[in-house]
Amino acid sequence: MSARAREPSFVRANAPGMPERLARAAALLARLPGVGEKTAQRYALFLATADEAVARELGLALAELRDHVRPCARCGNIAEAEAGEPAVCAVCRDTRRDPRLLCVVGRVQDLLAIERSGVMRGRYFVLGRLLSPLEGVGAEDLPIDALKERVRGDQVTEVLVATPPSVDGEATALLLARELGPLGPKVTRIASGVPHGGDLEFADQVTLGRAIEGRKSFG
Ligand SMILES: [Zn+2]
Repeated sequence: MSARAREPSFVRANAPGMPERLARAAALLARLPGVGEKTAQRYALFLATADEAVARELGLALAELRDHVRPCARCGNIAEAEAGEPAVCAVCRDTRRDPRLLCVVGRVQDLLAIERSGVMRGRYFVLGRLLSPLEGVGAEDLPIDALKERVRGDQVTEVLVATPPSVDGEATALLLARELGPLGPKVTRIASGVPHGGDLEFADQVTLGRAIEGRKSFG
């Protein structure tokens, strides 16, 4: 972590009267998604004054998180490993999974949402981002080559594209159908049912399960 990341510039400016360590903790908490400055201050105060074990265990858990939790070397799902060793996630280790059915998702959160639905018996590939012409994300920014390698290596017979039903998600799905189709596998798309523009993460399990079971072939 750089010195700059450790000491965000707004620490002193926005925290008059706050002890410096408390202000620093609040400033770091405010960097979490969805946490505003006031909430961050409330969290920091809670951690500084409430049950001591919570703060100490949280600190330890966060440190271990970065040492032992990282993306799966095979699929990009989040996985646990000893320091210095490559991580392989629980889905990739599960020998009962069908390696010939590959579900492609945009983000780890989408993979976790699909796992919650309980209907996916294949394995995954996490793209990490979606094609987004408006935000300047092109095909060359997606791990297409690694995905092709995976499709060939595992002799995948079906690629289920489970990117969200948004403009970017659909554009990504079309790109994948075009790139992967010629390699041989059937390329399918999750059925409608997940609201357009919606995030898979927030679709309920039944809806998402139906969208996967009702998947359709491209073209
Ligand atoms: Zn994996």
